[in-house]
Amino acid sequence: MNIGFVGLGIMGSPMAANLLKAGHAVTGYDLSTERVEQLVGLGGKGASSVVEAVGGAEVVISMLPDSPQVEETAPLVIEYGRPNLLYIDMSTIKPETSRRVARQATAAGVRALDAPVSGGERGAIDATLSIMVGGEQEDFEAARSVLETLGKTVVHVGPAGAGQTVKAANQLVVGGIYGLVAEAIVLLEASGVDPAPGLDVLAGGLAGSRILDIKRHTMLKREFAPGFRIDLHHKDMGIAVAAAREAGVSLPLTGQVAQLVAAAKAQGHGSLDHSALLKVVERLNG
Ligand code: NAD
Repeated sequence: MNIGFVGLGIMGSPMAANLLKAGHAVTGYDLSTERVEQLVGLGGKGASSVVEAVGGAEVVISMLPDSPQVEETAPLVIEYGRPNLLYIDMSTIKPETSRRVARQATAAGVRALDAPVSGGERGAIDATLSIMVGGEQEDFEAARSVLETLGKTVVHVGPAGAGQTVKAANQLVVGGIYGLVAEAIVLLEASGVDPAPGLDVLAGGLAGSRILDIKRHTMLKREFAPGFRIDLHHKDMGIAVAAAREAGVSLPLTGQVAQLVAAAKAQGHGSLDHSALLKVVERLNG
């Protein structure tokens, strides 16, 4: 297939590489020309605008930081895309933005899906992402083979915007686990117990999680290169809190996690990995 790809960052770059490996023709665009050149080095085509990336594409994927970038990009995809184009936005953005994009796309004869992901940079590289898809069932079926090139768990979760709501739920759980792992490390160290074997035991028991499996060693070494930036998690907690308000529910722990992430950002850690929540909990304790 001819695939246009907009946003070749930490996630988009390896995802586009996996599409190339699977035999698709990928034309990529990013604000950073270096990122575009990397894709060309892997056998892709470089574009110097969204419009150029979209021209001739049967499928367009975007993997952008936040809602404003999608609001800027989607109208161009919709206007310059060919009829019946499949537009899959895989960025994590507000559900209401995804719903609006879907309405605009449908009115213009473009099929749109919101398909945010979980699994991090490792999942993007290994093509093992979890992909939560909102939109029409038949459009999901049309997108399935492309999405299965990028991820292992690909699930249609409901109509337009539902993918983003599931992603908001994912992010509040991930933020909560990071916060509690950080508190466990601080407790163990303050009690004179070596946290390394302590966390090894936690990882093997009921408290075990992918986060403990993948991140406990780097957290203990205080290595916080992203990964997933605090700035992006801050954006996601804002989406989760707004989604809770819109749904009329009270999520007290989500509120606390949102404040912890906000503190990490306020303390200047926005460009560090979200496991740097440990720095906030440590600072709370002197
Ligand atoms: P990133 O900042 O590394 O990449 C975003 C890319 O988009 C950058 O290369 C940037 O230059 C480009 N860009 C920004 N505005 C643009 C525009 N208008 N046109 C073209 N290119 C533009 O971010 P990322 O970590 O790859 O995250 C992308 C999305 O995926 C975010 O919504 C994030 O929340 C989500 N996500 C990230 C992870 C992760 O572990 N990094 C995991 C799951 C989901």
